[in-house]
Amino acid sequence: MAENNSRNPATTPLPFLPIFLDLHGRHCVVVGGGAVAQRKIELLLRAGATVTVIAPKIRQALVELADQGRLMLLRKSFSPEDLDQPTLIIAATNDPALNTRISQTAQTKGILVNTVDQPQTCDFVMPAIVDRAPLVIAVSSGGKAPVLARILKARLESMIPANFGLLATLAGKYREKVQRQLPTASLRRRFWECTLSGAPGELMLSGQPQAAQKAMAKALDSATGTASPLGYVALVGAGPGDPDLLTFRALRLLQEADVVVYDRLVSAPILDLVRRDAEKIYAGKARADHSLPQKEINQLLIQLAKEGKRVVRLKGGDPFIFGRGGEEIATLAEQGIPFIVVPGITAASGCASYAGIPLTHRDYAQSCLFVTGHRQGDRPNLQWDKLVVRGQTLVIYMGLLGLDEICHALIEHGMNPDMPAALVQSGTTPHQKVIVASVATLAERARNENAAPPTLVIIGEVVKLHSKLTWFQGNSS
Ligand code: SAH
Repeated sequence: MAENNSRNPATTPLPFLPIFLDLHGRHCVVVGGGAVAQRKIELLLRAGATVTVIAPKIRQALVELADQGRLMLLRKSFSPEDLDQPTLIIAATNDPALNTRISQTAQTKGILVNTVDQPQTCDFVMPAIVDRAPLVIAVSSGGKAPVLARILKARLESMIPANFGLLATLAGKYREKVQRQLPTASLRRRFWECTLSGAPGELMLSGQPQAAQKAMAKALDSATGTASPLGYVALVGAGPGDPDLLTFRALRLLQEADVVVYDRLVSAPILDLVRRDAEKIYAGKARADHSLPQKEINQLLIQLAKEGKRVVRLKGGDPFIFGRGGEEIATLAEQGIPFIVVPGITAASGCASYAGIPLTHRDYAQSCLFVTGHRQGDRPNLQWDKLVVRGQTLVIYMGLLGLDEICHALIEHGMNPDMPAALVQSGTTPHQKVIVASVATLAERARNENAAPPTLVIIGEVVKLHSKLTWFQGNSS
């Protein structure tokens, strides 16, 4: 064991030399006309190779490519004379003996050869790739454990944003300019580090190419000392509590942030995912004690971004559902601060799923309404007649305090007092608790069981399904 652990990777022999080969306009031969051959052929074509396919039987997709003039077909069995002098050859038939013969022929002619799934007769292997062209990561186990390479590939896939390659395109556009304007290699490296994981990079990845270019120009000005650096604010939905419900983008931003301004509802395990040396500022909003008034939060975000910080404004659930996200970014927009909005799983989706209560159902609910039970003045201010609708699920956020009044008003406006109703407390977290009752009895049950925020109320026929569909147990069992 100790020996293994102390292996020095730099002196361990490499089974293959990783290289990226320029195949544009080069001739390549693939023997085989099945699905495996097709995958290799598609990659060769994307790399700009001129491809000849040799096989007696050729699948339709390849015939179509030939019809479009994208490759040459030789419908015949392989014979050594078929190989003039291609750059490389791939033996992808389902006959291992034939693949081996092809390999021998190629080697006598000095042609690089790959035999699919037969590493012992390969000159080169085709790695698993994480494709973010022009950025490509190749993973190989040296032919020893292709599944291991694929597992690693899957991990990398989930870590690297789908459109990461766009960053290379953005950088490409500025490469020369940066070279000209920043005199030393270390200045340039700092510049690229700041921009690619800063405002320009994030804007590019979030679908704002023009804003990204503007931010890039501004960053270059600031690197040459003619402007102040530029930060950004990402308004990020943290979901209802379970950290596994974060989006990939949310996680990445948390790990890049300089400052995270977070709400009371953001769960501790999610805060643990924030980059270690990032500053965390609590801006929480318990109902009674507003720790920071909304105006001050808005000002704080602007000030931090103006200092050049990468700011994450982290909110429970989805920032655009009862999250005042719109107000916060309105002030950013007015000040010309770049911003990104990252949706999160809202409490209604999270709590409903984890409580086994579908929000819609063919038999019970064709629509679903989200309302806030937050009181304005001394009572919830809702359009009750819109809430009492057949075939509609009603979801009430911030409904615990006014639950008595809400349930009374619903019954007063015609809701059947026996209508099933559920209260989900701390949904999706290990402390989740679900109370199922009727609209007439829910408030009392909640009181008896000392229900405490955050709680979400779901009212409608769909609540009946809870007993059958419940699956999440949290810590309660
Ligand atoms: N933007 C948030 C909602 C903010 S309002 C979202 O999209 O989910 C705050 C209310 O959300 C709470 O009062 C409660 O009703 C609900 N809520 C948020 N997280 C919750 C959770 N884990 N369990 C139950 N209710 C939750």
